[in-house]
Amino acid sequence: MGEQSSGGSNKTGKSAKKTPAAVKKDSTGTKKTPAAAKKTPAPAAAKKAPAGVTKTPAVAKKPPVAVKTDAAVKKPAKKAATVRKIAVRPPSGESSTALVRRARRINRELAEVYPYAHPELDFENPFQLLVATVLSAQTTDLRVNQTTPGLFARYPTPEDLAAANPEEVEEILRPCGFFRAKTRSVIGLSKALVENFGGEVPGRLEELVTLPGVGRKTAFVVLGNAFGRPGITVDTHFQRLVRRWQWTDETDPDKIEAAVGALFPKSDWTDLSHHVIWHGRRICHARKPACGACPIAPLCPAYGEGETDPEKAKKLLKYEKGGFPGQRLKPPQAYLDAGGTPAPPLGAA
Ligand code: SF4
Repeated sequence: MGEQSSGGSNKTGKSAKKTPAAVKKDSTGTKKTPAAAKKTPAPAAAKKAPAGVTKTPAVAKKPPVAVKTDAAVKKPAKKAATVRKIAVRPPSGESSTALVRRARRINRELAEVYPYAHPELDFENPFQLLVATVLSAQTTDLRVNQTTPGLFARYPTPEDLAAANPEEVEEILRPCGFFRAKTRSVIGLSKALVENFGGEVPGRLEELVTLPGVGRKTAFVVLGNAFGRPGITVDTHFQRLVRRWQWTDETDPDKIEAAVGALFPKSDWTDLSHHVIWHGRRICHARKPACGACPIAPLCPAYGEGETDPEKAKKLLKYEKGGFPGQRLKPPQAYLDAGGTPAPPLGAA
């Protein structure tokens, strides 16, 4: 996928050093982690947040205040990338301003950890990205990347795929799962591209979502990465992480998109999506988040939901073969010092 070698290992090392800051010793010298604190039952409102998380219960009782973020103030140039103007409504006791600051700080930290975050689907043009994104439903990007070279070698253009024999396409797409439905979608969207858009992928949201098998998530991936138009990609990782970080308690993807969009300037949306998704795939997993090896642990209200022991947590990390998140060739020194062993390549997330 053309990832670059590590030019920013120092940055990662810096971030990795921050995590131990959350580990303190009591007077007996015993290590005391936030996880240990979490084991002591306490009223939800009085639950101590990890260091760095500012909670202001008094402010929390006030009605949510609209924060003038760039996203909220600027009138969207195009309806295609519009996120509705929305007041920031922290689901926790945090003030709106504190939530915006914490959210942006998390994004800055993630930008240091994943300086080369990018869409992990291989593509050379908007058509390939559109098809690859449709194929990525219910499977891994790795699997799609193994499949699409054969597909695009056989059917390089929308015209070719529109005229394809479905049974031949099904055979090519079989490894991606749901291959019959996906075959119908990619042939159908290719026909629609030919018939309605002159064989070109449209660069507007309302046109993209008219294509078979293309929803807002797919459309924003294409807009953000093939057309450079800001968009928030609310996939399963994004949904899980923003709820763990208490950026929103919405469950509907469109509402999540609007709520998170209000926390960030529009220009940050595409990179933010990559950072969050990369973090969800590599560290903050659905079942076993590696809290003890997480560079944003001090900012995370959900710290302790996963493994907090640093050594055990490091074994849960998933990263590219031979490297660490975003940096293929140089695992962070902290990981090497701990005797870390290579994790399997990405693809199982
Ligand atoms: S790994 Fe743990 S500390 Fe890090 S973001 Fe996920 S839940 Fe929070």
